[in-house]
Amino acid sequence: MPKQNDLEQRALDIIMSSGEKGILQSDLWREINASSREGSRISIRLENKGLIYREPELSRGRWTYRLYPKRQPVSMDSILDCPCLSCEENLRCGAGGKLSPNDCDRLIEWVLKED
Ligand code: SF4
Repeated sequence: MPKQNDLEQRALDIIMSSGEKGILQSDLWREINASSREGSRISIRLENKGLIYREPELSRGRWTYRLYPKRQPVSMDSILDCPCLSCEENLRCGAGGKLSPNDCDRLIEWVLKED
């Protein structure tokens, strides 16, 4: 039988990977092989720790909760086009130096651009 912390971690991993669509708690309990009582305790603990939030949802005629992660896993997509990654001055650039991110026009333009 898995330890409570293992179940909690597995539940959190699944909720995190559910992203913005979340996951019904009954589907989650099925995936981690937990009873609804165990599962409810886990979701309340995760919510109390500030890791997830729950929203009531009517599913197949019964009220349940959909569980959502409070934070999304960090994605590299947002920095893929950062000019520093391909900058020929990268090795000479640093805070306090002649070349610095503090006053680089290319970097400022990239930070301020809207997608
Ligand atoms: S801050 Fe500017 S100069 Fe420095 S590495 Fe980034 S793009 Fe290059």
